[in-house]
Amino acid sequence: MTYDVPDSHPRKRSLERRYELEEAASKGLLAGTAMIAHGRGEAFDYLLGERTIPIANEATIQAAIMLKSAVRPIISVNGNTTILAGEELVGCAALLSCPIEVNIYYRTPERISGLVAHLEKCKKIVSIKPPNNWKRSPEEWERAVNNVIILGSFADGLIPGLSGPRAICDVNGILASDAILVPLEDGDRCEALVNMGLKVIVVDLNPLSRSSLMSTITIVDDVTRFSNNLQEKLLIFQRLKREKWDNKKSLQVALDTINETLQSSIK
Ligand code: ATP
Ligand code: MG
Repeated sequence: MTYDVPDSHPRKRSLERRYELEEAASKGLLAGTAMIAHGRGEAFDYLLGERTIPIANEATIQAAIMLKSAVRPIISVNGNTTILAGEELVGCAALLSCPIEVNIYYRTPERISGLVAHLEKCKKIVSIKPPNNWKRSPEEWERAVNNVIILGSFADGLIPGLSGPRAICDVNGILASDAILVPLEDGDRCEALVNMGLKVIVVDLNPLSRSSLMSTITIVDDVTRFSNNLQEKLLIFQRLKREKWDNKKSLQVALDTINETLQSSIK
């Protein structure tokens, strides 16, 4: 079901994203709890003023550097991330020459193949339009996007220390990687990835979640805004400056920003 939200509606973007998730759920691409997870994120986004806060921008810069400097980076996506930021992350994967692996908490073969097919569709859309700052030819962009491998369908490995289907991953994907971008991760899976020795970059609007607290770099931002921002940063990679990252300190800054936003919102 698609709905036409008038441009004048103050919550147009938020409503349209809900409809996108609703539609994906009706196609069987999302688990029943997907909307609840999204709602928790939306609540925090309200408190942040629905914008990329400065500390999230700084975290995104450090994430871009970490992913570019990795030997085998990977982007791991769940259902919500695929629907809300599939195209943007395909663009990032093209710029990083890395695979995208579909990993879902409530794993069924139908859901995995549906999400993989969705990302293949994203590749087709993204390949025909290079980003604004792309300096090389459109053909080179098309090739870079077409070279992005979508993993997940034939996962043959297990993340150590996790039980059940959510441990399943690809031997040539997550198990072979040294840095992982894993938006909207679940806390104990994040912990298991950190224990594997990976550098873990999480995107989570909740600065207090276990994923946020566990990861190497947490970006307290909406996954779509973040993915757009990451793509922009990857395109100007040479100009980015590496800084020593204290993740706990950055989470405190995000909490302070929420506090300041609240203080100034009702006068
Ligand atoms: P954790 O397992 O890390 O302790 P949790 O159990 O509270 O977190 P989950 O249900 O595992 O949360 O995952 C949902 C998380 O994703 C929430 O923390 C929520 O803030 C975040 N989230 C949801 N939608 C978005 C979004 N669009 N962008 C960024 N983060 C989001
Ligand atoms: Mg969780």
